[in-house]
Parts: sequence; structure tokens; C-alpha cells
Amino acid sequence: MAVSFFQFKLEELGQYLESYGEKKFRAQQLFRWIYGLKQFDYEEMTNVSKSFRQLLPQLLNLELPHIVNVRSSQDGTRKYLFEVGEGETVEAVLIPGNNRRQTLCLSSEVGCNMACKFCFTGKQKLKRRLSTQQIVGQFVRVMLDQPEDEPITNIVYMGMGEPLDNTDAVLSASEILHNSWGVNLSRKKITVSTSGLVPQIPLVTQAGLRLAVSLNAPNDELRTQIMPINKKYPLAELIASCKEHSRKSKDKVTMEYVLLKDFNDSIDHAKQLMYLLRDVPSKINIIPFNEHPDSGFGRPSEEKIQAFQNFLISKNVHVLRRRTMGRDIYAACGQLTSAYKNHPISMTI
Ligand code: SF4
Repeated sequence: MAVSFFQFKLEELGQYLESYGEKKFRAQQLFRWIYGLKQFDYEEMTNVSKSFRQLLPQLLNLELPHIVNVRSSQDGTRKYLFEVGEGETVEAVLIPGNNRRQTLCLSSEVGCNMACKFCFTGKQKLKRRLSTQQIVGQFVRVMLDQPEDEPITNIVYMGMGEPLDNTDAVLSASEILHNSWGVNLSRKKITVSTSGLVPQIPLVTQAGLRLAVSLNAPNDELRTQIMPINKKYPLAELIASCKEHSRKSKDKVTMEYVLLKDFNDSIDHAKQLMYLLRDVPSKINIIPFNEHPDSGFGRPSEEKIQAFQNFLISKNVHVLRRRTMGRDIYAACGQLTSAYKNHPISMTI
């Protein structure tokens, strides 16, 4: 029976084809046709022998995750809802940026076991880890929707799930999308965001990918209240691991900091944050909380957000405020959920 083309790294595909008596370099041809030229019809692959073209449908299927719907925000953000089997769904969000940047936020799991208190996805227990082909499939499906002159330029694993709880599939998918015969995305354009699974961080370093940490608190006491993972891997361990990543990769770590009203948004918290990160080559992304039903948290006032950011700027800390995109379609940070039935679709394209 034909297996999914999208599960294979180049080397693995070569070995698979070899096991059917084909030459290894056929894998490069297929990567070029499918990922590079977006040609899904084997019969149109003109530099491939006729006998191999006829064999291909029996070896490899090109099925992609089914799109349940697509919602578009006024700001150009597009949120895709994918069916990933047994009625389960995940979301991917395409976010347009400056300088022709098109960032695709991918999901790695259905639900999530990390139970971060401010996160919509964290309210659902982990139901399933996605396979490599389901992660690559999200990318390819969105890629096919994009105009030729607006390719996807960046990937972030910040959708549903903790990527480092599904490390093998996430790293395989990244390697596939990096391969120069296919999509050819630079490793430095792929960011893995973790809630703090410290033992897995060196794997991100080894893979040459960028690291983001969902930090959200400047001390253990506060962080443990909103992120249970902090009990297992407290800040000292997490920060040491970030330093090591930065030293080896010569890259800054992105520290995501969701600002929660009256919880972690004071000047004193900003001061603690500055000290916590003083030895870590990093930049801080502050993300004013996007309110969602039953979260129990609020968004700080504009003055408080500004004061927090300005304090850090005044201390020469590299800090950015992330633009909030897709708020009107529940596509903003921490708002993704497969419980789409709670948010009936207003627009399908
Ligand atoms: S913030 Fe990320 S790691 Fe935490 S519960 Fe949500 S999806 Fe999981």
C-alpha cells in the first residue's frame, strides 16, 4: 500500500525507493517536483522515466490534511483548521509581516499536556501527537494556497501543543522543509518555541534551529502558578539551558512574555526580568494578553504595557512588543484551540 510521501526526509525517501529497486537520486527529483515546483501529478514529472511514474502511485501517496475551514482576519492573518483523523482538528496560522515576511505558525499536537493557565489550548489534555507528515502537510497545504510571489518565509512552532513533547516529528518536519531540493527554508527561519522542556533544548541546538521560550514570569513563584512545567524544570535550569543554546548557536533566544493584568506586569516584575536575563543573549517579546472566554486573566491597560516596555528599553534591554494579529478570528497567541465549534466560522475562503 502507498505510504505518505510527506513522512520522509530526503535520505529516508532514497532508502525507501532503493528498497523497490529504484535509484536513490529519484528522491531528489521527487523533492524538487513536489516541494519545489508544487507538481502533484506524477504523470507531469517529465524527467522521471515512464515506468517509474507508473509505479509511483503504488509507492507514495500525496494526501494532505483535509481543510475543515479557513478564516481570514481583517489584518490579513489566515487561520486554517485541519482535520487530522478521528474527528480531531488542529490549527495553523499564516501571519503576514513587514518586508514580504510570511510566517506560518504550526501545530505539533492535538491538545497539550503542559496546562499553562493562560492558554486556551492548555485547557484540553493532550489527545495526540502529530506525525511528521501531518506537520509537513499543514505547511504544504498552506503553501499551495499562497500566490507565487508571496511564499512562506518563516515557520514558528507556536500553534497547538508543546513542540518539544513531540520532538522527533518536529525535527524531522523541519529537516524536510529545510532541504535544498525542496522548500529550502533556512534553519534560521525555523523557530521552536517551548514552555521549558529543558532536556530537549539541546536537540534544538543540534538541529540548528532557533529557540523561543515561553517565559511569562520573572521568578519561580509566579511561573509555577501559571506554568506547571516550572515545578519540574525551574528557572535556574531553564536559563542555564538557554545560555548554552545561545553559546553554541551564537544566536539570541527569544523570550516570550505574555503580560497578564496585575499578575506579572509591574515595574518590579520588569526589573526582576532584567536581572533574570542579564547573562542570556536574548530578546524579549512582550505579548499583551489576548482575552478569551474563561481564561481568568485580563489584559493590562495600555499605560501599563507601555510602562513595562519603556522601563526595559531605558535599561538597554532588547525588547519588542509583538503586534497582535488575528485577534478577531481567535488566531492570536494562546487562543488556538481545536474546539472550533465554540467559535462558529464567519468566513470561508
Ligand atoms: S502555552 Fe503552549 S505549552 Fe502551554 S499549554 Fe498552551 S500550547 Fe501547551
